[in-house]
Amino acid sequence: MGYHSVCVLKKLIGGRFHRGSGGLKNPDGQIQFADQKQEFNKRPSKIGRRSLSRSISQSSTDSYSSAASYTDSSDDETSPRDKQQKNSKGNGDFCIKNIKQADFGRREIEIAEQEMPALMALRKRAQGEKPLAGAKVVGCTHITAQTAVLMETLSALGAQCRWAACNIYSTQNEVAAALAEGGFSVFAWKGESEDDFWWCIDRCVNVEGWQPNMILDDGGDLTHWIYKKYPNMFKKIKGIVEESVTGVHRLYQLSKAGKLCVPAMNVNDSVTKQKFDNLYCCRESILDGLKRTTDVMFGGKQVVVCGYGEVGKGCCAALKAMGSIVYVTEIDPICALQACMDGFRLVKLNEVIRQVDIVITCTGNKNVVVREYLDRMKNGCIVCNMGHSNTEIDVASLRTPELTWERVRSQVDHVIWPDGKRIVLLAEGRLLNLSCSTVPTFVLSITATTQALALIELYNAPEGRYKQDVYLLPKKMDEYVASLHLPTFDAHLTELTDEQAKYLGLNKNGPFKPNYYRYENLVWIVFEVVKEIIFECLMPA
Ligand code: NAD
Repeated sequence: MGYHSVCVLKKLIGGRFHRGSGGLKNPDGQIQFADQKQEFNKRPSKIGRRSLSRSISQSSTDSYSSAASYTDSSDDETSPRDKQQKNSKGNGDFCIKNIKQADFGRREIEIAEQEMPALMALRKRAQGEKPLAGAKVVGCTHITAQTAVLMETLSALGAQCRWAACNIYSTQNEVAAALAEGGFSVFAWKGESEDDFWWCIDRCVNVEGWQPNMILDDGGDLTHWIYKKYPNMFKKIKGIVEESVTGVHRLYQLSKAGKLCVPAMNVNDSVTKQKFDNLYCCRESILDGLKRTTDVMFGGKQVVVCGYGEVGKGCCAALKAMGSIVYVTEIDPICALQACMDGFRLVKLNEVIRQVDIVITCTGNKNVVVREYLDRMKNGCIVCNMGHSNTEIDVASLRTPELTWERVRSQVDHVIWPDGKRIVLLAEGRLLNLSCSTVPTFVLSITATTQALALIELYNAPEGRYKQDVYLLPKKMDEYVASLHLPTFDAHLTELTDEQAKYLGLNKNGPFKPNYYRYENLVWIVFEVVKEIIFECLMPA
């Protein structure tokens, strides 16, 4: 299997396939596994199920790499677990909201296919060859039209798939139905309880006559479940592909503790994921999330964006382009200077909090907007978060008796002070774009292609190429993922001449940049250099 499939992969990327780039260092931060999991077999009452969803593990409620579903799940209150459903071929190995929505879901998938050119190209390029023949992939990601395109690509490349949702809110029910109709074993619906969440994951892995040999995870909950409940399964598992920051941190924790028993691919830190998902995705989805929830006009509005990293830069660029007056808060002088040079006013939050119309957090930090600031905001101020977890706005501090909460729309709350002042809190401080809008399919195409290639690479890697560690996808593959997306723009890439390649010391076919290259703009590089110089000058010998 191995060698043949590697040849197929070589063919896929035009014979430009190189070995992996080696392991990464473990980060120092102590990241805990999702806490206090419920045993899935203690089935709560209906009310209990709903209330449980508020205490669910962070990674299952807060994740940013996929679209929110616009499925209306209120039509049928019966839990999918209490229904017996079969697809048109009589197969009932799935648990979803309503199989009758399959046709609608199929159309959603077809729309997504148009914006996922690289996956469609992979299907074509593989043609008769099946680099994933024999692969049994268990997946836990957002179940959206884009994921469906990925799953159907994996299947076209030879894999069998069983799938659960990594987020209790993000499943597009009609897409899950289309997948189930197409023969995929999908266990997910929008609005799962925590109990349902773990039950669905368990149904994916705990099945007679089928054992996974690859894991595709987003947030680490699936990996955690297998570690906790079925550690022996790892004997057959060839590798883990993990997409999220949280999940990757968990893997590093395992690796650091010497408990990682298979190789893992960190897709989150692939250039093609990070540079595109964080910046471009947020640049496009921030406006969508705000518009859908509040119908706000952006022109002339005063907005403060907390954090000027990739996500903050995307948000600021979009808002500036719409005519908003944008302020930025930062703790890092380099990012702060970038904000200034990009034309934004750098302020402390308390300097503008009384006057701004919109507050957006994107720091990845906690308690950035605390009750003191919430008290001082003006009437009608919109407050939302674009960071990974719901820790940035101190929402808990708003649950006090003197404040009244009024649900005005789905994901939109008015929090009302005794004097009548109200703020507009979106998605209860969770990720705005995941909760309230969709994210661009094209960006997800880049991530999904990276995931597919990571699976192919790990599945086909010869013995010894990858150890029990966390790896980045080889740079060549990052470049390949990007090149597969260029035809969409009718973009024409310049080829190095032999003379130029020699001059730069590069292979004409890549990789074109060293692994440490950051793909940042020039300003950033200049300031990195300046920072080094300042440190050298100021630090005591
Ligand atoms: P980043 O590290 O590049 O940027 C975060 C910035 O916030 C940094 O520059 C940091 O100095 C600054 N910061 C930290 N604490 C601060 C504070 N108290 N006040 C002001 N600034 C502060 O990270 P990023 O790639 O921009 O991601 C930010 C968050 O968004 C992360 O949680 C990430 O997981 C999440 N994310 C969201 C999406 C999405 O679609 N919404 C996409 C990618 C990443």
